[in-house]
Amino acid sequence: MDEILQPWLDNDVEPADLYQLLGVPRFHESLDDLGTAIREAHAVLRQYQRHPESEVQERSRRLRNLVGQAARVFASQISRQTYDAELKAKLAAMQQRRKYDIVGIDLGTTYSALAYIDVHGEPQVVANPDDQSNVTASVVYIDGDDIVVGATALRNAKSAPENVVQFAKRDMGEQNATYVRGDDRKAYTPESISAIILKKLVAYSEQEIGPIHRAVVTVPAYFNGLRRVATAQAGQIAGLEVVATLNEPSAACIAYRLHTNQHTGIYVVYDLGGGTFDVTVMRVGRNRIQELASDGNRQLGGYDWDRKLVDMVCRQFLEQHQLDPRTDPMAFQTLMNDCCEAKKTLSSLKKAHIRCTFQGKELRAEVTRDDFERETGGLLKKTELTIESCLRAAGGSWADLAGPDELDSHQRESLRKNGFRWDDISGIMLVGGSTRMPMVQSMVKRISGKEPMRNVDVDLAVAMGAAIYAGVLETQSSDVVFEELPTIVPLSDEPPRPAGSAPLPDPGRAGTFEYVTVNSLGIGVFVSRAGVPMNFVMIPPHTVLPAIKSHTFRTTQENACDVRVRISEGDSANSNQCHELGFCVVGPLPERLPRGSKIEIQIGFDKDGRVTVQGRCLTTNTIVRAIIDAAGLLTQEQVDRERRELDRRTIN
Ligand code: ADP
Ligand code: MG
Repeated sequence: MDEILQPWLDNDVEPADLYQLLGVPRFHESLDDLGTAIREAHAVLRQYQRHPESEVQERSRRLRNLVGQAARVFASQISRQTYDAELKAKLAAMQQRRKYDIVGIDLGTTYSALAYIDVHGEPQVVANPDDQSNVTASVVYIDGDDIVVGATALRNAKSAPENVVQFAKRDMGEQNATYVRGDDRKAYTPESISAIILKKLVAYSEQEIGPIHRAVVTVPAYFNGLRRVATAQAGQIAGLEVVATLNEPSAACIAYRLHTNQHTGIYVVYDLGGGTFDVTVMRVGRNRIQELASDGNRQLGGYDWDRKLVDMVCRQFLEQHQLDPRTDPMAFQTLMNDCCEAKKTLSSLKKAHIRCTFQGKELRAEVTRDDFERETGGLLKKTELTIESCLRAAGGSWADLAGPDELDSHQRESLRKNGFRWDDISGIMLVGGSTRMPMVQSMVKRISGKEPMRNVDVDLAVAMGAAIYAGVLETQSSDVVFEELPTIVPLSDEPPRPAGSAPLPDPGRAGTFEYVTVNSLGIGVFVSRAGVPMNFVMIPPHTVLPAIKSHTFRTTQENACDVRVRISEGDSANSNQCHELGFCVVGPLPERLPRGSKIEIQIGFDKDGRVTVQGRCLTTNTIVRAIIDAAGLLTQEQVDRERRELDRRTIN
């Protein structure tokens, strides 16, 4: 035994090397081995402790450190395995009792999917019977009373673009956004278009799993409160109760977590979908999933890659025929669809062919993967820069949030200054159809030096995570009682803890977890400084939600009877670069208030991204009500009307 332990004692051993020294190459597959090794090490330790000489004491101190580290990993690993098994058992029990009328829905910009928990406690996606695909195109075709959703609607996008709605999610919660479609020129809101998509998903899923009444619907991390409420309203119009909106990266992270035997750590979720790009840095704890920072580009996705391919083909067409197919909407749409197919081909083959006909002329273009990657390199670079800035921001938030046992002062300082380095990152989770492009995978590998994680279907991760979360919410309020995990102590007596190191992880409650979210854009108010309008950020980006911040302002007018507070969203001081979320009126204020009176404004921002405002007049110390004008949201009356309207239509 002494021989085996010698290397521990002579070198300062990194925890990662410990397993190797313990002779357990893949420790998580051989917990028994690790447990035995720790027990043996402990026996040696006891022998050492009987010798008072200083050298032996020093050896014993180091050994204690190592045993402590090994024991912590051991404990967290065991409880982690038990945790997932418990969660699955719990969900399975719920399902077997047929208590499940709740599902998870990924309502995507280009594709949507619905998942549920099966009798084994595993998330399953329901395939669309129209084409047996696990995802349904978020495309709606409206012609009189005929409404079609999915692949058929997408095919119609080229022949009858005036009857088709795509990308409605981008307009969700947007004031005055409507689409006029069909022969009767009816106007549809983005919420009712989304409701149509939800109804379609629910209808075919009910055929397979029975009645569905409630759902967790995912939203992008950057969605503000208004857009989240609008998403819930889309659910209501579809006849669903939306029990929660969950951030897409968190959902993906939950799915990955259940499917991988990964440790707790810091993870990057890279989501490149059809029309948007999101990157989120998460801290995954044993029963806590915490967003540290989130960033992205709402106008960057697979669509832009398609568009570049269209440009490549059209350049050749122009050269050969002096005609540009992009000038004709129908030819353009056909080419977009064909280029999208060619792009997918290039994900598996080195070459693709695109045939383009326009005004009687024809071109057969051959595109190589190399050419395609060169043409779209700039788009990929944008995502790379976003990851880097997100890692910096996330490092800063973790420096602020981590407890004293999680970071020492040196680490904290370095995180604040430099953000996370790739060495700090445990894994990169790929999400979204566009991450199937080899160029994405190689870029991620190049910048991180790590193989990205892809062991969960990139198209389905979000829906599956939403289903698991729905299950977790459900079990929390259910009568299925699960015992708390026993505290795991691998030795008869608890291993000595080296000074200043982390305590043994608290096993916490089994089969449940907490999910912590941050805002991606600052929330503040528009103010006037020396007569110049500007934005004053009150809740900076990446603040843990819910958050409440207050600040004192002064009135700019004599005898003001109320003040109008315009809530801003954005990080810049330049008000032109910020978006107005809505406004509220703080009042009535006491009479005859002089100019420059102090008013304290308190802004609250909750986990669902909803903003609340409260004002306090400091002269009289009275709290004044703030009424937020929910501009852009449908009224309950409108929701009910749209619901009745959809109820009488058939959706195919
Ligand atoms: P969203 O979340 O925006 O609805 P998805 O995550 O479903 O989007 O991704 C859709 C995008 O993924 C589309 O642009 C589609 O063309 C692209 N995509 C799907 N499969 C592949 C593939 N094999 N190679 C490249 N891109 C793909
Ligand atoms: Mg998506």
